[in-house]
This record gives sequence, C-alpha cells and structure tokens, in this order.
Amino acid sequence: MATQTLPERRSVSATIPSAVDVRLLGVRKTYGDVVAVDRVDLEVEAGEFFTLLGPSGSGKTTTLRLIAGFERPDEGRVELSGVDVTSRAPYERDVNTVFQDYALFPHMTVADNVAYGLRVKNVPRAERRQRVHEILRVIRLPDVGDRKPIQLSGGQRQRIALARALVNAPKVLLLDEPLGALDLKLRQEMQTELKRIQREVSEVGITFVYVTHDQEEALTMSDRLAVFNEGRIEQIGTPADVYEHPATEFVAGFVGVSNVLERDGRRFTVRPEKIQMHLDGTGAGEPGRIRDVVYVGMFTRYVVELDSGGELTVVKQNLETSSTDALESRGRPVRLEWRPEHTFDMERPGGQA
Ligand code: ADP
Ligand code: MG
Repeated sequence: MATQTLPERRSVSATIPSAVDVRLLGVRKTYGDVVAVDRVDLEVEAGEFFTLLGPSGSGKTTTLRLIAGFERPDEGRVELSGVDVTSRAPYERDVNTVFQDYALFPHMTVADNVAYGLRVKNVPRAERRQRVHEILRVIRLPDVGDRKPIQLSGGQRQRIALARALVNAPKVLLLDEPLGALDLKLRQEMQTELKRIQREVSEVGITFVYVTHDQEEALTMSDRLAVFNEGRIEQIGTPADVYEHPATEFVAGFVGVSNVLERDGRRFTVRPEKIQMHLDGTGAGEPGRIRDVVYVGMFTRYVVELDSGGELTVVKQNLETSSTDALESRGRPVRLEWRPEHTFDMERPGGQA
C-alpha cells in the first residue's frame, strides 16, 4: 500500500474529541500600517482539503505563514491538534509548506531534495531511501531520483516539491498557490493529481491547507473554503454553499459573477446559469436589453441591462447558436426570468451602500 513506509500517525483524535488540526483564534498580523490579517477565526478538521481563497493582497499567504510559524501574530492564537503553538518555531510544528516557486535545491539530485527533511530529522539512510522511493511512486515519477531539478519540466518540479513535503508525513500540509506557475492545461491535470495524491496518503491522514486566488480551482478541489477579503474571512463553507449561497456581495462577485439586484428594498443575487433569457422580448420575466455579448466557445455570456435598473449576466450553452448569431444579438430586447428559490439575499457589508 502507498502509505506503509510512512510513519504511523499518532492517534490524536483519540485524545482530542474535536479532531481539529488547525485552529486560528482572533489572529491579527500587521506590517506597519497594513493590516494583513485582521482577527481571523478558522478551524480546519483533520484530513480536510481546506482552501484559503481571495484576491491578491487579501491575507492568504500571511495566514499560511502564521500557521507554519514563519510569522508571529500580533494578537490571537494558533493551535495545531489542539495545542497552542503560537510561540513555537516552524521546525517545532508538525507542518510542511509547498511554495509557489518550489524552492528546490538546484545542486542536489531529486532524491536528495526529497530526502532533505528526513536527513534533518536523522532518519536512518535505509529508511530514507525507502520512503523517497515510495513517495516518488505516489507522485508517479519513480525514475527521476538521479536527475537534477533543472532536468525536469515545470509540472515535474511541482510534483517533486510536493513529494519533498509529503515524505515527512506532516500532520498539516500547507500549499501556497502551488500550481500558479503552470499553464492552464497542466494546472487542471495537477488539480486532479493533487486530489488523487491526497486520497492515496489518506491513511496517514494529511490535512491540506491550500491557498489560491483562482475560484474555479477552489471550487474544484476543496472540501471547504474560506473566502478572504482585505485580511478578513467573509464566508466559510463547502464549494456548493459558497457558490450557491454567497453570504456577502464580495463573495457573490469573487466566487462567480456578482449579479446583484435591488428590488422592493431587497438586495439579492442570482447565478447566471439560473436565468432564462427569452430572446423575443415578450412574455414573462423582467424586460431589458442585451448590452454585451462574449462568445466563449462552449457557451455565450450575455450582459443584460434591465429596464427597472441594474444589470445581470446570463450564460447560455451554445446548443444551436453560432458565434455570429450570438454576437448579432447585441442590442436586442429580451426578458429575463428566474425562480425565486434561485435568488439569495445579500448581507450589507459594514454599512456600505
Ligand atoms: P495574499 O497572499 O492574499 O496575496 P498577503 O498575505 O501576501 O496576501 O498580503 C496581505 C497584505 O499584507 C498585503 O497588503 C501585503 O502587501 C502585505 N504584506 C504581506 N507581507 C508583508 C511584509 N513582509 N511586509 C509588509 N507588508 C506585507
Ligand atoms: Mg500570496
């Protein structure tokens, strides 16, 4: 089995009822005037794939570094497996980090790169070799041990960086935009691959805390995600929760298309794929006019200006429509119809209009 050479997981869940691997309590971190992380509370359960999603500068990396111990919070507490580690150094925490730039040692072979953490921990040579061999198999690169990192492709280097962290069988694996340097196709392959690897090491029970600014990646991969905005968490939930029931306007706009309307004093959002667009402009629904059309191959995105104010984005699969048909519909009167149960009320963030 994949995990037999990895050390046995100490039975934390037997002693701590909650089985929360990572807990942040009122954690705050400032750099001069910049509040990078603003009193964040967070619980990641054992074995979860948990994602920190948010735009650039929203505090994701800082949060990850606080968990890893590369940063100390100004306020608040960091717990790992129920133990307060706030003042512990990184090497005293049972976590490993995979950085976006991989940070492989260029002068070392792949095998030595992967074995590095084990050597630091004085794991005997024979066991080291065995575990490196095993983990290279798990990431499906069994034969590259003797190469130097420069002799690998970007995707292969990414896997080696992952192997180097996984081989230590940390309780928590922290990944900071690990696929950010890869092109789209490779990134999508690696998303699937990462999930497979997580399943394969699930016996050891490694918890993944994953940082990305890519909403699709977050929705595809996560068990749960936290949406960050300006150092705060706006919502925590499963991908379906967050996508279908965005709690704030920011979440609605960042995880998908915002589509916020105000009608009769009510502020709500409705997802583009839940809207029916009647092209003849008659019948049921709200009247409006197509302001913009974007042809995206599989589907077309229409931006419709509504007569009663506001605008909505609608997507339609291109079942029969050609790109010319789609593009020629600009300026046409339409009616938009949606079901009440597909609308969700917005909280107003901090009294903003
Ligand atoms: P993200 O990873 O979501 O892009 P970061 O956590 O890197 O965001 O940054 C959050 C905020 O803190 C940003 O405004 C960033 O400029 C600032 N910041 C992060 N690290 C430092 C640092 N070492 N010194 C000063 N400001 C920093
Ligand atoms: Mg970052």
